[in-house]
Amino acid sequence: MATVMTAYGEFGATFPAVVGRISRTGAVERPEETVLVVRDTVPAGDFAAIISDCDGLPASVGRYESLDHLEDGDIVLIDGTTGFTRTLYRAGSLHNALFVTNRCDNQCIMCSQPPGEDDGGSLTVAMRLVALLKRTPPLRLTITGGEPTLLGDGFVRLLSMLATDLPETTITCLSNGRGFGNKAFARAVANIGHPEIRFSIPVHGDVPEVHDYVAQASGAFRETVAGFYNLEECGLAAEARVVLHSRSVPRLAQLSEFIWRKLPFLCQTAFMGLENTGYGRMNWSELWIDPIDYADALANAVIGMYRRGLAVSVYNIPYCILRPDIHGFARRSISDHKQTLVAECAGCQVSEHCAGFFSSCLERHSRAIRPIQLQRRRDDQTAIRVARSGGLRDFGQGRDGEC
Ligand code: SF4
Repeated sequence: MATVMTAYGEFGATFPAVVGRISRTGAVERPEETVLVVRDTVPAGDFAAIISDCDGLPASVGRYESLDHLEDGDIVLIDGTTGFTRTLYRAGSLHNALFVTNRCDNQCIMCSQPPGEDDGGSLTVAMRLVALLKRTPPLRLTITGGEPTLLGDGFVRLLSMLATDLPETTITCLSNGRGFGNKAFARAVANIGHPEIRFSIPVHGDVPEVHDYVAQASGAFRETVAGFYNLEECGLAAEARVVLHSRSVPRLAQLSEFIWRKLPFLCQTAFMGLENTGYGRMNWSELWIDPIDYADALANAVIGMYRRGLAVSVYNIPYCILRPDIHGFARRSISDHKQTLVAECAGCQVSEHCAGFFSSCLERHSRAIRPIQLQRRRDDQTAIRVARSGGLRDFGQGRDGEC
């Protein structure tokens, strides 16, 4: 089931927006950074906010229908005017993101987070979140938007803050890469010296006609490719992301060849299933191909790159749809708050490791979903076999998923 990430509270009076850490006990070091969840008594203390899903409490306590989705250590943003409450950070999750802007200079036809105007506050909220995380640094964080590099100096300030406050947190920055076509900007980012950062950049095609069409931006291909070269020259790690749909799949062989010939320095290429939300939902009937129908093209692209020494992963596509010889490249990649399984998965023995589905993609999914049953080989070695209709096939255990 997808995780609840938002809620509405009713407060007795309006107040400026707060970003605070959830606690169910009042005995905290920094009450001013704490959003206290109470059930009966309200302790004394200068808390950022006090909230509850119980009745009979003072009007100063925000009243919610349910707060079951919140754990101690989660960080929330409460809009003190509307009561709208968004979970910014889940302490028990490895899939947390800093959302920094709505704006983007691409309008990709499958974008899951369509761009819009900025309210100007996203970067401030993201920086406040980083400040709160300083005492409990997460293993990893994603920077996302919109296009984060459009923030210019603000983007550089955020990365500097991350380098100083969370130096051991691995950062993945989702970007269209065009900003790095400006070498001075790439150099400015490199000069921050963040020890653990990677830029994840979509490549929609091996030729400008395809890439620019998908990006809906003339000249995007040239700037993105220049961005990859500038990042490499500045010593910054980058990966290519290839979203699989009707515009990218027909030239998948050419695209994988383009990457291994022209961009062999990338730290990884990730082939990714389509998400049915945002523009992806609007254009679903034009874009979606049942993954079973491109299973061979995908496997050939993955194996071809792997044999040339490139790191490859497959995101967002269930095991049972993938050709068995690329099971080892599949990652449990969908963020846990929007990952789910379907009824056909009942009894599947690899469901804990499977990418599963976006919760937004349940109306229409592959016709090839089949539960997988595992059997140990007689010699009881680590390799396992998959019993499926059609016989037993080798099944390589997937490595840890990666967002
Ligand atoms: S049947 Fe198993 S492998 Fe297929 S989608 Fe469901 S959990 Fe994944």
